[in-house]
Amino acid sequence: MNIIILATRNKNKTREIKQLLKMKDVVIKDLDDFGPIPEIEEDGTSFDENAYKKASFVSRILGYPAMADDSGLVVEALNGEPGIYSARYAGENATDKENCEKLIKKLKGKKNRKAAFECVISIAVPTGAALTYEGRCEGVILEEPAGENGFGYDPFFYYPEFKKTFAEVSMEEKSMVSHRGKALIEIRDEFDKILQWIDINMPIFEKAECKL
Ligand code: IMP
Repeated sequence: MNIIILATRNKNKTREIKQLLKMKDVVIKDLDDFGPIPEIEEDGTSFDENAYKKASFVSRILGYPAMADDSGLVVEALNGEPGIYSARYAGENATDKENCEKLIKKLKGKKNRKAAFECVISIAVPTGAALTYEGRCEGVILEEPAGENGFGYDPFFYYPEFKKTFAEVSMEEKSMVSHRGKALIEIRDEFDKILQWIDINMPIFEKAECKL
């Protein structure tokens, strides 16, 4: 049986990924299934770098293949802000509401409201080798929020195909078109190949006998 560790303690992410990969021959665990491990610094300069950092670090520390994602909102008129700072746009421990307020303030008076959610998922083995999957979805930022579902910037992210914000649709509907959903669907569709890649790239650990 294959084991993959999700480099997260976020139960929503674990649930979403377990749900998507449930028919596959794999046991998905997350960091709560293990004891404390050192803090992972998310100090990369791109989603790609942060996702890889988290996946390779956890894989190296725990000795299993690991999967990590990094995502955020990229706004055209703000030169890509908040980007990798999406979770802490209004400060280190900012709430979703505070982050949204800052975004709306910075966009005040701007005609161009185009934005995209982007997600990178990295799957790494303890040697540092890794696979990368990406997903992106485009929309516009509203001036007023709409809807109660989702999290983060969802109430302001209007998705033209739905004619609704991401906070006005169910998690299942959002996952079909969202940045994370798209990357995960690609992973699901290629999962047999990914398992083969893991098999080839996992180092062989030998147990040393301890004789006195
Ligand atoms: P993380 O990569 O899941 O930690 O997400 C980083 C931040 O990006 C979140 O805290 C949100 O502010 C924002 N974000 C990422 N994905 C979404 C989404 O699907 N909806 C709304 N906000 C999101």
